[in-house]
Amino acid sequence: MLTPSQLRCLSKIPTINITSGCFHNCIYCYTKGYSQYPGDGKVILFANTAEKLSEELAKKRKKPQAVYFCPSCDPFQPIPKILDQTYKTMETLLKGGIGVQFVTKAIVPANFITLFARYSNLVCAQVGLTCVDDNIRKIFEPRTANVSEKLSVLQKLVEIGITTGARADPLVYGVMDSDKSLSDLFSAISEAGVKESAISYLFLRPAIRKSLERNIKDEQLLCKLLKPYSEGTTLPIGMKNSQGIALPSQMREEAFERIRNIASDFDVSIHICGCKNSDITTESCHITRPAHRPQAELFT
Ligand code: SF4
Repeated sequence: MLTPSQLRCLSKIPTINITSGCFHNCIYCYTKGYSQYPGDGKVILFANTAEKLSEELAKKRKKPQAVYFCPSCDPFQPIPKILDQTYKTMETLLKGGIGVQFVTKAIVPANFITLFARYSNLVCAQVGLTCVDDNIRKIFEPRTANVSEKLSVLQKLVEIGITTGARADPLVYGVMDSDKSLSDLFSAISEAGVKESAISYLFLRPAIRKSLERNIKDEQLLCKLLKPYSEGTTLPIGMKNSQGIALPSQMREEAFERIRNIASDFDVSIHICGCKNSDITTESCHITRPAHRPQAELFT
């Protein structure tokens, strides 16, 4: 159950996938290029994850400090059987004193909030939010929670004392990053009580490009989105032997500087994803964190 991820940023702690495929079907999803991707519209639930995990933990002499959910899907996909398995699996870990870390674009249901409140020093979260315009969100993430639901998740996680950040990744150049869009985004994040956000721009791989071309019906929008990549740069994307096309370096550097300045107006600090921007930074986007914060840190 506990497998190391090939992604550099996830290499420090073991990871668990609850499903193969993801109900959210974000059109930019990087897993579309994976050999194990089951195809759009298909989700395979690993229904005995919690049970297998218990068996595996019982055999381990050294238990992991924390586990990350999920490198290839969203742990809170709004399907009862998936949520049930995620709950049992996370509960098993937390009861055993093992941290739970996750990124989500979904509603985190009330029973999870109650569970996390009991183990708040063991839980770290990021909520994916790239813009506060639901019409734009729906183009790229047709099935994720809407903007106000995501903001409410952020607020609830902060209220129960969890280390919580936003994740504005992938931003789409020229579509989500006007000064006004970014001000609205960081203002909303800050109002939810969150003071940091990971950021990165969309990168293209063949499967992602095909998905964008297939799903974006507005030709002008598609052209606008793809154009800057014609002068883009090929970069490793934090995974062994894997590359993608990123926006030109100078374009990203200037944009990140502008984003940092806008976010600071709202007291939000920015962490660039170094895995997808290795030509310009070694920063960490804090997708995972050191496990086991002392309880006192909750109040700093
Ligand atoms: S939520 Fe994450 S894993 Fe699921 S489709 Fe969207 S990008 Fe992919």
